Amino acid sequence: MMDSKAKKLDGSRIAAEIREEVGTAVVALGERGIAPRLDAILVGEDPASMVYVGSKAKTLAALGMMSETHHLPENTRQAELEALVDDLNANPEVDGILIQLPLPDTIDTASILRRVDPAKDVDGFHPENVGLLQQGRPRLVPCTPAGIMEMLRREEIEITGRRAVVVGRSDIVGKPMAMLLLHAHATVTICHSRTRDLAALTRRAEILVAAVGVQSLIGPEHVADGAVVVDVGMHRVTDRETVERLYPGNEKKIAAFERRGAVFAGDVDFTRVLPKAGRITPVPGGVGPLTIAMLMANTVTAAKTRRE
Ligand code: NAP
Repeated sequence: MMDSKAKKLDGSRIAAEIREEVGTAVVALGERGIAPRLDAILVGEDPASMVYVGSKAKTLAALGMMSETHHLPENTRQAELEALVDDLNANPEVDGILIQLPLPDTIDTASILRRVDPAKDVDGFHPENVGLLQQGRPRLVPCTPAGIMEMLRREEIEITGRRAVVVGRSDIVGKPMAMLLLHAHATVTICHSRTRDLAALTRRAEILVAAVGVQSLIGPEHVADGAVVVDVGMHRVTDRETVERLYPGNEKKIAAFERRGAVFAGDVDFTRVLPKAGRITPVPGGVGPLTIAMLMANTVTAAKTRRE
């Protein structure tokens, strides 16, 4: 039987591999006088969004890419935001535009995402890129599901003909994930909040992707023996009782909680699912780093394709 360590799908290691390849591509573009540049638009003061944008900017700099963050106040009007998107669309130096979500409620998010030049849409949220993915001609693919596919491929996890269940149907993760698995010839089931008897469906999965946004929803009763379990969820747990319940006897986690006042947990109850799963992504260190690595890869793809 596989030991716990071997079971873990090490997203951090795979993300490092992807970043290294991106770094090499950036050097090659540099020799052609091209410096890939990603501009991020952040509206308001949401602390998580500020952390995400900051860490993306750091990774871009580490890989020799250019970046600029446009930080607008919470009360920014739709027209002002549209004008900024138009400027970035028109700026030939900008290869990628990232709109950090969520935007304030006063903004029509769908209309802003539609306004981004599809060739610069490194998040893959523009209807044109969504349509291309749906047709099996992907160009810029949403980073989280793209990163998961990259991980499955690099870990040589068989997809063709296997039963895949995706829990969650968001435009950002669930739907594009299901579409990518379908194009990779899995038999795909999508579950959501109205699904009846979730566990009966997820237990049939050979590949189970949880993108639910409900902490530790997926327990051992949802998982078949030997299944590949991918946990997209990301929750900050700030109470000791929950940490002790989620990670009983795990001194490293408790120590991390005492140091930082919080630990991260996913949509999967990792401790209890680990003995059943064939392979499983941890949180943190699973899907999160892959998402950022794929954003870098998408920026390089945009920089190249815009010039072809
Ligand atoms: P979302 O937009 O809130 O979508 C959640 C989906 O889960 C919805 O389709 C919802 O169904 C479904 N759902 C909610 N409760 C359910 C339940 N009890 N049973 C079955 N389905 C249920 O979330 P998201 O943007 O896809 O993100 C999902 C999670 O991934 C969040 O924790 C988010 O923080 C995390 N995330 C992580 C990364 C990363 O890089 N690690 C990237 C993106 C997101 P309905 O459609 O019926 O409402």
